[in-house]
Amino acid sequence: MNPTTSAVRAGVDLGGTGTRILIHGESGIVSSRTVPTVLFSSIEQSQRAKALASHVLELIPPGMELVSLGIGASGPVDTEAGVITNKDTLACFSFFPLAQMLREELRVKVSMDNDAVAAVLGEYHFGAGINSQRLLMVTLGTGIGVALLENGKPFRTSSGQHPEAGHIPISGNPAPCYCGLHGCWETLASRSWLQQNLEKALPGIAFEKQDRDFYREMAAQREDVAALFHRYGNYLGRGLVTLLTLYGPDLTILSGSAAHYYPLFKEGLEQALTRSEAYAINKTIVPSELGDVAGALGATVIPSLN
Ligand SMILES: [Zn+2]
Repeated sequence: MNPTTSAVRAGVDLGGTGTRILIHGESGIVSSRTVPTVLFSSIEQSQRAKALASHVLELIPPGMELVSLGIGASGPVDTEAGVITNKDTLACFSFFPLAQMLREELRVKVSMDNDAVAAVLGEYHFGAGINSQRLLMVTLGTGIGVALLENGKPFRTSSGQHPEAGHIPISGNPAPCYCGLHGCWETLASRSWLQQNLEKALPGIAFEKQDRDFYREMAAQREDVAALFHRYGNYLGRGLVTLLTLYGPDLTILSGSAAHYYPLFKEGLEQALTRSEAYAINKTIVPSELGDVAGALGATVIPSLN
């Protein structure tokens, strides 16, 4: 590297809806931009890596030099091959050697992992999870994303995947899930469940257009709305208690758009997590500090395999 330039790392959070690109240097975030992921679907597959690379390069100011690129991608990822395998929500970046193509394009190290892993790395290095030895992060969005770090290292299954813990069955209610099981945690405790049920209870009120104060007021006025948040907390707790029991994290971070409503469902959640004293578990729960930026920021520190 030229001694007069300063090194920066790029992080990309590839989601089904948006692709956030972020440049991070010694003194913090240098620049960031989000582009709609659908933009890449209209480009031929062989040109998509090149298009992504040029978005990254555009964000690097003069006098700075890119030294690495990390990608956190929604859904399953083959971290060793650097290939995304998410046919459901990220088809346009799946089943071709994206990491290798970006490596050739940018001539820097490229690493790749699931977006939940990227987000927990972000909170561990830069946010609410600093100093945690065993950190659990639960992201409440369209589905439920779960990632666990032990002294900063991601926990993986024997096949190298991160645990898809949103698909732990928690309910006797046999609602079918797209994963093939019935009664999965994410069918009952993702933001989608909360959104659908609030919109059903309050017709004509779009969830994404309201804020926490609005629903706090609604819950104070209407028992059924308060009960709905309570039930949501309960469902969330029924899956979370399994993870807390098995992994015993010292800290749990809640993130994603539904985490914003934590004060409204906290009581229901606590109720589902409380055991008798002899069987008590560590239920220290805090909201995410980095919010939407956690994934892209964490992607800058995904360890490289090459
Ligand atoms: Zn499932």
